[in-house]
Amino acid sequence: MEKGEEVSNKQIIFKDYITGFPKETDMVLSTGTIKLKVPEGSNAILVKNLYLSCDPYMRSCMAKLDKPNYVPSFTPGSPLTGVGVAKVLDSNHPNFKEGDLVWAMTGWEEYSLLTMPDNLNKITDTDVPLSYYVGSLGMPGLTAYAGFYELCSPKKGEKVFISAASGGIGQLVGQFAKITGCYVVGSAGSKEKVDLLKNNFGFDEAFNYKEEHDLDAALQRYFPEGIDIYFENVGGKMLDAVLLNMKFGGRIAACGMISQYNLEKPEGVHNLFCLISKQIRMEGFLVYYYRHLYPKFLDFILPLIKEGKIAYVEDIVEGLENAPGALIGLFTGRNVGKQVVVVARE
Ligand code: NAP
Repeated sequence: MEKGEEVSNKQIIFKDYITGFPKETDMVLSTGTIKLKVPEGSNAILVKNLYLSCDPYMRSCMAKLDKPNYVPSFTPGSPLTGVGVAKVLDSNHPNFKEGDLVWAMTGWEEYSLLTMPDNLNKITDTDVPLSYYVGSLGMPGLTAYAGFYELCSPKKGEKVFISAASGGIGQLVGQFAKITGCYVVGSAGSKEKVDLLKNNFGFDEAFNYKEEHDLDAALQRYFPEGIDIYFENVGGKMLDAVLLNMKFGGRIAACGMISQYNLEKPEGVHNLFCLISKQIRMEGFLVYYYRHLYPKFLDFILPLIKEGKIAYVEDIVEGLENAPGALIGLFTGRNVGKQVVVVARE
């Protein structure tokens, strides 16, 4: 393909703002064209997208919000945006050249003109699967690292519970906790995922929350002496049951509450008084504000991955046209591991 050539560019277009559960028909495949050259005088970078990440926060971007939100909404009629791994095809920016590999916010399309190159992360270690840069070596990895180590201050022997434990973040938190010498239990939504937690990621115990009619009793079974650390990914009924089972002085990292994202009216949480009576520290966080830790995080996790001490399971879907189905699957638990879409393999 020649520099400056005009080529077709498949895109996933966001149709319009939604309420309730997202559907594949909220997005549509369209084909436009793009010139494979950065416009003269611009600082932008032209990339070929290789891997796209499906992330639960993207549901927030599909809503029309009347108040400022932590992420901007998608623009109806334009491609969705998300984190991706891409290859630089043309650049006027001094820090990037043709052939560089990067991970960054990009478009759900084959080629993107990225106008904010300062937000790009150059990939220097390619001795690992490139797709990991939207997973264990990217935003989800840093989220697991910051949430667990910075917010929870874990100690050897402590009892850790993780919800949505087989997902892109949960599977890492569990393995970090095992490396720290903790007792680790995870919940997930199928037998296949429960087996993965115990057999691939080394969790001490795991259970299928969909088969438990009494979550409080399930947690008592696995934590007869209580929970020191809860890594919160789901919210709702699980959070309520966890609060009853936390130990005095426990810590909760509030990472996400996916069970609430598609509800028109969020469920209430009834057991918040436990925060006071058991002096629990519950803290919400956004990975964006921990991005300064990224180099330290890479130094920590890259050797562990290369030495096979951390496993990472991805759910890889081939083809941009299958991205909408992959994204909505997060909200019914269709994904087994980190959900990635392959647009092109270099
Ligand atoms: P993920 O776990 O890879 O995928 C989402 C999983 O959530 C699904 O596979 C499903 O697994 C579970 N789920 C879906 N609906 C549910 C429901 N109603 N009740 C319980 N579980 C449900 O996602 P991830 O990327 O690791 O993200 C995990 C959480 O972290 C999300 O809440 C996300 O919003 C949050 N997050 C926060 C930050 C931050 O900066 N704070 C950054 C990234 C992500 P099951 O089969 O187990 O139900």
